[in-house]
Amino acid sequence: MAKTGIFFHPIMGQRNWPVIGNKYQGFPEAFGDLLKEGDVVLLESPEAPQGLLEACHSEDYLKGVKASWYWEGAVRSVGGCVRAAEEVLRGNLKNALVFAVAAGHHASRDFGWGGTYLSCSAPTVHNLRQKGLAQRVAILDTDCHHGDGTRSFFHQDRDTLHVCFCHMDYVSPDGTKVDVAIPYGIKDEDYLGKVEEEFCRRAREFRPEIILHNFGHDTCVGDYGDRGLSPSFFPRLAQRIKDLAEEICSGRYIVITHGGARRDIAEEIFPEIARILRS
Ligand SMILES: [Zn+2]
Ligand SMILES: [Zn+2]
Repeated sequence: MAKTGIFFHPIMGQRNWPVIGNKYQGFPEAFGDLLKEGDVVLLESPEAPQGLLEACHSEDYLKGVKASWYWEGAVRSVGGCVRAAEEVLRGNLKNALVFAVAAGHHASRDFGWGGTYLSCSAPTVHNLRQKGLAQRVAILDTDCHHGDGTRSFFHQDRDTLHVCFCHMDYVSPDGTKVDVAIPYGIKDEDYLGKVEEEFCRRAREFRPEIILHNFGHDTCVGDYGDRGLSPSFFPRLAQRIKDLAEEICSGRYIVITHGGARRDIAEEIFPEIARILRS
């Protein structure tokens, strides 16, 4: 039976990354005995292929990122996402948890900020389409902040559903690009209700072949994007989307870590999420 893949690289636990700091310092040890059980496999995040990066970012911009100290973390984060999605579509993995540092939802073709300097989702989707593995992709973003970089790649792409929980409300005319404002102090239950209404309902109609989830925990109480959510909210969210993926796209679900700097929260929720994914 296909396993749950965890994509990680030792350098992710060894440095103080932009914005998120050293929250992965306790990994992969934080997974404990989970990695000894047969249905979860820890894989080393490979570097993303150069051609895929060039397809999504401009030459000059890439040159700058390549010269930065966080390049290796960024390029392996993207590589982990690309490989995870490909293996899931090929049926070699059931689903995946991908660690990301210095890469993610604020990176666009020529620009990156907020701790993310390469796009994870654009090269991943490009690769799936290029290889004929999938065309329709749903991207859920539950980081605290607006996924401006992700949106910039897909805003005219009707085969990508992008639902982003952030600070504003928006629905594009074709309904494939959506933002949902999350007020400070929202209850866990109310957030999950919004996920059902704004993402799950749309995804059922959209019928993606895979779900990519930009999974920030900066919304957790005491973290830098605090929306008042409790630590136990995050595994519940992962369970919901895993159930949805099983209902609509054969369980194909990739959790990509995003914002949040609290190490204790990361060590609490990601092992729990891995447990949910493999179950
Ligand atoms: Zn954020
Ligand atoms: Zn947004």
